[in-house]
Amino acid sequence: HDNYMKLEIPSKSQNEAFARVVVASFASQLDPTIEELADVKTAVSEAVTNAIIHGYENKIGIITIECRIIKNKLEIIVEDKGKGIEDIEKAMEPFYTSRPEMERSGMGFTVMETFMDDLKVQSEIGKGTIVKMVK
Ligand code: ATP
Ligand code: MG
Repeated sequence: HDNYMKLEIPSKSQNEAFARVVVASFASQLDPTIEELADVKTAVSEAVTNAIIHGYENKIGIITIECRIIKNKLEIIVEDKGKGIEDIEKAMEPFYTSRPEMERSGMGFTVMETFMDDLKVQSEIGKGTIVKMVK
């Protein structure tokens, strides 16, 4: 890798903003446009929020965020060791949410897909979820 960083934070809601700012700060060495930086921040927010509310269901667990710069591209990996996703394909459909009662719109993965160049989700029930994004 040309450069990388790894951040470990507890799944507290205030850490969502923190993670977003740290990743944006790391990404700035690639000289992104304001728009590219905004896209990255939005995608990180969605992934970290998912880890907090779905992965750990608002209990405290560890979220790991890794960023790597490879050939002028930014790779971001958000990982939780929470409950996992039963059906990834279904979870990634626009408007699908397992928590409609929480006023979730089910657009998090769609936002990540739209704002990033590549999105891959790996998950195992009871083991956790890994979201890998490239911009
Ligand atoms: P929104 O993001 O619009 O507030 P949402 O979080 O429900 O709503 P998505 O972010 O697209 O929508 O996620 C879809 C579904 O995938 C979630 O409702 C949840 O069931 C599941 N999911 C997403 N991330 C995780 C995760 N880290 N751990 C466990 N389940 C997840
Ligand atoms: Mg979401």
